[in-house]
Amino acid sequence: MTEKEGKDPVPVNPDSSPRLCGGSFAGGLSPMQLIELDACSQCRECLKVCPVQEVTGNPAVSPPEKIRMFREFIKATDGLKAKFLRNSEADRKMLEDFTRAVFECTTCGACGQHCTVGIYTQRLWPFLRREMVRRGFVDNEILTGMAGAIRKTGNPYNFPQEDRYRPWFPEVEVADSSPIAYYAGCSGAYGAQPMVRGDVLVLGTIGQPFTMLPEEEEVCCGFPLFVSGQHGMLEEIIKRLVAAYVARGVKTLVCSCPCCVNMMARDWPVFYGGELPFRVRHITQFVSDALREKKIFVKKELRERLIYHDPCYLSRGVGIIEEPREVLRNIPGVELIEFDRHGLESRCCGAGGAVRKVFHDNAIAMGRLAIDEAVAKKADRLVLSCPACYGKVNEAMIDHDKKITIVDIMELFSEFVEREKK
Ligand code: SF4
Ligand code: SF4
Repeated sequence: MTEKEGKDPVPVNPDSSPRLCGGSFAGGLSPMQLIELDACSQCRECLKVCPVQEVTGNPAVSPPEKIRMFREFIKATDGLKAKFLRNSEADRKMLEDFTRAVFECTTCGACGQHCTVGIYTQRLWPFLRREMVRRGFVDNEILTGMAGAIRKTGNPYNFPQEDRYRPWFPEVEVADSSPIAYYAGCSGAYGAQPMVRGDVLVLGTIGQPFTMLPEEEEVCCGFPLFVSGQHGMLEEIIKRLVAAYVARGVKTLVCSCPCCVNMMARDWPVFYGGELPFRVRHITQFVSDALREKKIFVKKELRERLIYHDPCYLSRGVGIIEEPREVLRNIPGVELIEFDRHGLESRCCGAGGAVRKVFHDNAIAMGRLAIDEAVAKKADRLVLSCPACYGKVNEAMIDHDKKITIVDIMELFSEFVEREKK
């Protein structure tokens, strides 16, 4: 259901039950997260960079307001009064408002980047969402249907498993086993096919043998479940994926989706129960290495102004900022220009947080801000490197008065790269 279809996008069904208003709200958070909640000074500095604030102006969605509400829930259920009364509950209406607000956030993490006391918000919001899921406040089928869809088809969108690679896979050889593996990811395979096709073409040009899991084994990395607070299945799918790569002798796992890379690098070790038996590399890191090691080169020129958008989960998430630029600068003739906010300061394009379909209008408005700035800066093309951005920013251009060519970084690079002859 989307805002566009005229229905309330609030992921809360006021009639649903049971919904748990009592019991500890502090129990599901780490000691550091409790300290962070306590530390918020309500200074409102973070509001200046919140993209949801920018397009909605809704004060309830602001970081300090969400934190204030959650503190109230902790006070009501874990405070001294609650201990005496034994059955204190948080206010039901406030819980509903909070649920809507914490899901309307794109989890872009810009607020954390600017937080005056250093709250790691990109990490905090999914855990606050988890609390509301656990209490039965989340009842939007786009969100609640994801776990069942992953179990049935391996992807959160419920697309047929047999179409995961077939419609876009180029003529590139894939080994049965190899120290290098490529993971396509659900959003790329089903929603940004020029991007994953470009990845495979570039890997093929580099020429090092690489393996992939069969389509029935390459299931969701778990990111949409993690970020939407549905953590129940994560250990199972992560352990299964890790075991499948280990069985193929994998030492380096390459992926282009920033959300997958984030999940693999930051969260797989937590759910796997220790250090992963392989390295995780973003495709631009892998390609930068190949350029430096002179396995590949670019001779053909591209006389264009390119503007590159840093995906939130790539720049703020795992600190990959230079490598995509290095790849683009290797194309002779390219003039690389920047958004006013770039790198760690990047502005979310609206597609994050697993809610781009739930809060469709917000996502479109944020995507248009990126398009407008790219057009104002007279870029010839807007270069993206995230399947969620790719899908949503393209969608944002439909019916928009400003137009620009959108291209994925590996979709573009695959047209220029050549293999060094030994
Ligand atoms: S994570 Fe992004 S969208 Fe969410 S509150 Fe922070 S700045 Fe706003
Ligand atoms: S910048 Fe940090 S301390 Fe200030 S209101 Fe935002 S979250 Fe709270």
